Amino acid sequence: MKTKFEPFKIKTIEHIPITKKEDRKVYLKESFYNPFYLKSDLITIDLLTDSGTTAMSSKQWAALMDGDESYAGSKSYYKFENIIREITGFKHILPTHQGRAAERVLFSTTGGKGKHILNNTHFDTTRGNIEYTGATASDFITEIGKRPDLIGDFKGNIDLVALKEYIEKVGKENIPLCMLTVTNNTGGGQPVSMENIRQTKELLKGYGIPLYLDCCRFAENAYFIKRREKGYHTKTIKEIAQEMFSYADGCTMSAKKDGMANTGGFIATNDDALFDKFKVNLIVTEGFLTYGGLARRDLEALAQGFVEVLDESYLEYRVEQVKSLGDMLLTAGVPILVPTGGHAVYLDAARFCPHIPPEQFPGQSIACEIYVEGGIRSCEIGSIMFGKTGENGKFIPATMELVRLAIPRRVYTQSHMQYIAECISEIHKRRKELKGMKITWEAPFLRHFTAKFEYV
Ligand SMILES: *Cc1c(COP(=O)(O)O)cnc(C)c1O
Repeated sequence: MKTKFEPFKIKTIEHIPITKKEDRKVYLKESFYNPFYLKSDLITIDLLTDSGTTAMSSKQWAALMDGDESYAGSKSYYKFENIIREITGFKHILPTHQGRAAERVLFSTTGGKGKHILNNTHFDTTRGNIEYTGATASDFITEIGKRPDLIGDFKGNIDLVALKEYIEKVGKENIPLCMLTVTNNTGGGQPVSMENIRQTKELLKGYGIPLYLDCCRFAENAYFIKRREKGYHTKTIKEIAQEMFSYADGCTMSAKKDGMANTGGFIATNDDALFDKFKVNLIVTEGFLTYGGLARRDLEALAQGFVEVLDESYLEYRVEQVKSLGDMLLTAGVPILVPTGGHAVYLDAARFCPHIPPEQFPGQSIACEIYVEGGIRSCEIGSIMFGKTGENGKFIPATMELVRLAIPRRVYTQSHMQYIAECISEIHKRRKELKGMKITWEAPFLRHFTAKFEYV
């Protein structure tokens, strides 16, 4: 059979708000043209993020009831720890309330002024947490990874030549660790190959620099390896994930992604001395070692989520659903980042609106229009998120101008995908009418969350 279908049926439904186009123009203006300020009851389809927006399974809901709310030594924690150890093999595992808390624990103990943290591409909160300590966050994406229009199997790979050069330049003693983000969220949800992970480890080993995975979407990455990399077709997702983690010395994870639940995260390491520092930091800021800022029932939902995410029929549905949206847009002539990644379709705003220069944020203008047209919320991933002001006030654009349509896990159906594609195709037809934008207010860190805008 050619038809692919959702490998689940629906037990509970949630009504979605339907609003009028004229009203949406007002809501957007009242939200300072930043979709982050929109109230969710004004949104028909929410593609702002796939983070913590997963629909849980009946087994996860049942597991919540089984949560052991003990402050210390909860049996729910040990379930959580066991499944994560089974997948990752790491010696020490600490829960956190979400991914950025794991990042804060990691970088407040390893970062600081004069230190350099390397990555294929740092996610925004990762970069934020590194820079907050005074350290420098540097990206080493391959040339093809910077090109939204070029097809490649592993566009999330790190550039090993550039990485080596940089290590030689700044000195290994100033590099507490190197990360690989799997899949590479900021770079289009593109996977990293097993070969690239292995070679990164080999290179770093020579310098004594540890490798950490930012493994929010480790299962989606493993699925791409299974489909695209030689030698992995007959391996299970779990075996592939285990091999990925075997090259790393630790990881941070936002379990709001491939943990298949609504909140949670963890940090893991094989380093005993570092683990002692993590523990102190966690207890001071997050909570005790066996809950780390989470309700213990959340650990139950996550323990079950980590089992479900390894199911290949789920991953096939997941990746195919994202691809189907991408294919509909490509058929309509809409420029998107190709190939589609694991969790989102990224519109290529630079090609969508070439008449709007990067300093007028084409991605933001498109995201606003998508809301007005169809009540759909998306997210700019371009110069608002990653643009900078250099010396003498000069504007430095991001590598790519993108709009991310992140697909929540197990939430929307195929007809929702058709509606989204239709809405964006309509905008694309009248794209020349879209106007540039300017920032009227911004925060010093992670400005995209709270910045306010106007049309120029
Ligand atoms: C979501 C995400 C994070 C941060 O996790 P939160 O749970 O949102 O704090 C870090 N890295 C990547 C790659 C992510 O996608």
